[in-house]
Amino acid sequence: MDFTESEERLALRSAVAGLVAGYGPTYYRSKAQAGEYLSELWTKAGELGYLGVNLPEEHGGGGGGIGDLAAVLEELSAGGCPTLMMVVSPAICGTVIARFGTPEQQRRWLPGIASGESILAFAITEPDAGSNSHRITTTARRDGSDWLLDGRKTFISGVDVADAVLVVGRTEDARTGRLKPALFLVPTDAPGFEARRIEMDLVSPDHQFALFLDGVRLPGDALVGDPDSGLLQLFAGLNPERIMAASLAAGSARHALERAVGYARERQVWGTPIGAHQGLAHPLAQVKIELELARLMTQKAAALYDAGDDAAAGEAANMAKYAAGEVSARAVDQAVQTLGGNGLASEYGLGAAIAASRLGRIAPVSREMILNFVAQHSLGLPKSY
Ligand SMILES: Cc1cc2nc3c(=O)[nH]c(=O)nc-3n(C[C@H](O)[C@H](O)[C@H](O)COP(=O)(O)OP(=O)(O)OC[C@H]3O[C@@H](n4cnc5c(N)ncnc54)[C@H](O)[C@@H]3O)c2cc1C
Repeated sequence: MDFTESEERLALRSAVAGLVAGYGPTYYRSKAQAGEYLSELWTKAGELGYLGVNLPEEHGGGGGGIGDLAAVLEELSAGGCPTLMMVVSPAICGTVIARFGTPEQQRRWLPGIASGESILAFAITEPDAGSNSHRITTTARRDGSDWLLDGRKTFISGVDVADAVLVVGRTEDARTGRLKPALFLVPTDAPGFEARRIEMDLVSPDHQFALFLDGVRLPGDALVGDPDSGLLQLFAGLNPERIMAASLAAGSARHALERAVGYARERQVWGTPIGAHQGLAHPLAQVKIELELARLMTQKAAALYDAGDDAAAGEAANMAKYAAGEVSARAVDQAVQTLGGNGLASEYGLGAAIAASRLGRIAPVSREMILNFVAQHSLGLPKSY
């Protein structure tokens, strides 16, 4: 068992940290306020091979694992530039296509995802299903060799910058007539596809959309992989999603903690730095401990996933996501407190981080659904819902 990261991983972290240092929170905020995406940073990260570090080399990726991609996202977030599109495009969609896509789908999408030139969004959440993804009703039916897709999705990130959306729907099983999960690659310019922006109280370059899919006609090969592997495909995307969400949250916690500690070292109101007061120092120390625990669990989840142990990775990924979501909310809360009035001054950017830091408790899977998972699967308690 290895509790330290490889030299290669540490070098990757330091290279990404060097890149994001040239952008930082001021760039992030100005892009968010202008309603624009982090395109310059994204393009550069793609050129340097960071966006596709987990994807197969034969398709333009780095041949590494999800642990490498998670390290990239943690460093971008710690440098003040978190983006959900890294969770969605290379981690969820890239993994599903690399593992289950047809050779043609892999050739079509993976090189662009790796270079950053193509972005894929991911749509599972529906207004009437929410956390209960068994209730999704987006359905595809055959029309000759085509598919016709109908349904609604909500809170789908990055549709404005995406070329296509990986949509989780259902198809009818030819033998039983029952609906079974199936994933479709839906171009954002397909007739019948409409995306409406949802106004959010988040200062973020990632935007959320409601999708209206009304008789979207798709060619037969829009279905990802084999028609019987929809459920497997979905599960294959979930562990990377949670590991990446944990990394984004942990990186954001690092960013907030660093700002708080820097301020607490300098600011004096009683002739000594405010960080000397234990009322401030102890909560910051607690955040540091909880942050390191969350990072360790995230690295464990990534190591298990990269070793091919999906089941063990599932438990660890859920725990990592929970722990990182909690510490991200606490880190920002304590950072705001440490800065006093400046904690809410726009110049310091922490007020806006309060809303963003709550995301780790809500998406991609809520804190309560993770507690349900752990209660049921880790503790063997009865399912309550
Ligand atoms: C900024 C942002 C970006 C997002 N991006 C995407 C995306 O790109 N693609 C995508 O598909 N989705 C995305 N989502 C959706 C996200 O995954 C959902 O918001 C999340 O899964 C929760 O679903 P819901 O909002 O419908 O809440 P609900 O399911 O309505 O839950 C509301 C509350 O009830 C609790 N609850 C529900 N069921 C139970 C239960 N059985 N036991 C205990 N408590 C329960 C929940 O924990 C939560 O606190 C995004 C959301 C946000 C906010």
